[in-house]
Amino acid sequence: MFTKILIANRGEIACRIIKTARHMGIATVAVYSDADRDALYVKMADEAVYIGPAPSNESYLVVEKLIQAAIETGAQAVHPGYGFLSENAEFCRQCAANNITFIGPPVEAILAMGSKSAAKTIMANADVPLVPGYHGDDQSPDLLKHEADTMGYPVLLKAAAGGGGKGMRAVYSAAEFDSALHAAKREALNSFNDDIMLVEKYLLKPRHVEIQVFCDSHQNAVYLFERDCSVQRRHQKVIEEAPAPGMTPELREKMGAAAIKAARSIHYEGAGTVEFLLDSRGDFFFMEMNTRLQVEHPVTEMISGQDLVAWQLIVAAGEPLPCSQEQLKINGHAFEARIYAEDPDNDFLPATGCLSLLTPPAESSHVRVDTGVVEGDEVSIYYDPMIAKLIVWDTNRTRALARLTEALSRYRVAGVTTNIGFLYNLATSSAFRAGDVDTGFIEHHSDEIFRRREEDIDYAAPLAASAALTLRQAHAIAIARQSNETNSPWHLSNSWGRPRPTHPLQIQQSQRILCANTETDLSHSSIVATEYGFGLFTPQGYFSCRELLPDLGVDNLDTDSGNLKAPMHGTLIGLMVDIGVAVKKGDILLVMEAMKMEHTVLAPSDGLVTEFYFKAGALVEGGAELLSFEGHDR
Ligand code: ADP
Repeated sequence: MFTKILIANRGEIACRIIKTARHMGIATVAVYSDADRDALYVKMADEAVYIGPAPSNESYLVVEKLIQAAIETGAQAVHPGYGFLSENAEFCRQCAANNITFIGPPVEAILAMGSKSAAKTIMANADVPLVPGYHGDDQSPDLLKHEADTMGYPVLLKAAAGGGGKGMRAVYSAAEFDSALHAAKREALNSFNDDIMLVEKYLLKPRHVEIQVFCDSHQNAVYLFERDCSVQRRHQKVIEEAPAPGMTPELREKMGAAAIKAARSIHYEGAGTVEFLLDSRGDFFFMEMNTRLQVEHPVTEMISGQDLVAWQLIVAAGEPLPCSQEQLKINGHAFEARIYAEDPDNDFLPATGCLSLLTPPAESSHVRVDTGVVEGDEVSIYYDPMIAKLIVWDTNRTRALARLTEALSRYRVAGVTTNIGFLYNLATSSAFRAGDVDTGFIEHHSDEIFRRREEDIDYAAPLAASAALTLRQAHAIAIARQSNETNSPWHLSNSWGRPRPTHPLQIQQSQRILCANTETDLSHSSIVATEYGFGLFTPQGYFSCRELLPDLGVDNLDTDSGNLKAPMHGTLIGLMVDIGVAVKKGDILLVMEAMKMEHTVLAPSDGLVTEFYFKAGALVEGGAELLSFEGHDR
């Protein structure tokens, strides 16, 4: 076994790998950029090497820097985690050339699965069932359109080099094809420097069911059952669970056998995931194989009792798999919810800022929190805005789901907008409770997930009103203090005269006053500062100030501004309307690109744009005013 490994990654997954390595007596080397100097994983590792500026293409994606760090520290192996260089054939090659073990599959397997289109050809030859579609080399727009027309709409355009749902567009009719192709190619080129597309039949109401496989260098191969990752937004996973609801032992065995066949066909070694779409008739189709550890691997660990990172290290060291297929058993049920800094009410736009309050639920044999951040850390624009993975386990799905909702209601984050309230609504929705999931789940159930039940609002509104008053009191105290102090830590807003406490002390103070002011039992309740004013944690879940505004007698927090702001730091890629020309509510006014995704800014009402403050191509700060809008209702 290795005595020292380097982790070519950051954040949550670096922490996760360090935990297992430490358990196995293996020393760890972390690498860090300027943005991660004080990060948790850097503190946890035995050694740390600085590898450059914050942008990942100047640090975490620079193969030579990582290889150099491994050589300098004498690491015998490199764990790439997920994302970054985890599926990069050149990195794998360079490791081998420098006598460093890559903790992952052989380079040939990475290459074989690296392109979704090439992977499909290999799988078709191995008789693994595929989604009908075109995955050829001829990329002329006319041919792609012809293929789509022949297949029949809806179709899905996918970047061959894709990942994370980027460069993907559903097309519902021939009329939309050209513009969708253009947008998908632009996003793919931007994210992967490659705009080769495949066209697939867009299956309606499929489930995303993936099989965890493991192979060693002694020709052993097993599958560690399935994960259902159907609940997605923008084709990205939101809540994952294992086992899949409604899965039969027969279907599991069939899918497991197909996954092993897929892995064997490329002489796989290590941890891999074969992703399938499963339709309502129980037919399943190969989508892609991920040649790395998945974000959602913890749910498999919880139901199988195995440590998949330990398995990776064992296999990479040339030892046989720890278990045979017969020895592997499913025990109970697990969920993982991805806690993200993002705004579900604003098309899941990534959020950034300081985690001024961060209190996860207590960990136990039922609750596990995999994270890479602590209170006071910054969610920056440079990396994925995931805050943590909340994983729960119990003996069956109903009990595990109760654990999940309980843990979500106790998860407290302030300073950054998060999806916790949204996850809570999702987890408590009747359709999710019934296990009736498919990849369109969030869209189909948006009424239930995005909106609150009346009785919950009735419950929370008085608390919110009280919280608002309390925060104003705290605000007044803060102003008084500020006038006596230079360099005050209090951050105050001038719009609406509304308080925006971002300092933990101010929150604590507000909570104390709130408890004293209200007659309601607040043993579970607390208030926190958010981007929009405040949020309220109650036994019924989380309420944002915005949700409760009608009950507070305030219609709009931003009444002081007729302007529209950049949702985040990014590039303006298109001004979509002309100055002075009437637009309808919801029309696209401009398109921004941030974190390699396109975001649109919409007209808040019928009206017209009187001025754009930036030209297309400009880099704008998050929160910057982009344009002046005159509403017809003003
Ligand atoms: P990525 O690698 O970008 O994550 P995937 O190929 O894994 O892309 O697809 C992501 C998600 O998109 C799937 O989990 C599924 O929800 C949806 N999807 C992909 N292909 C299809 C299809 N042919 N029909 C319907 N949905 C699909």
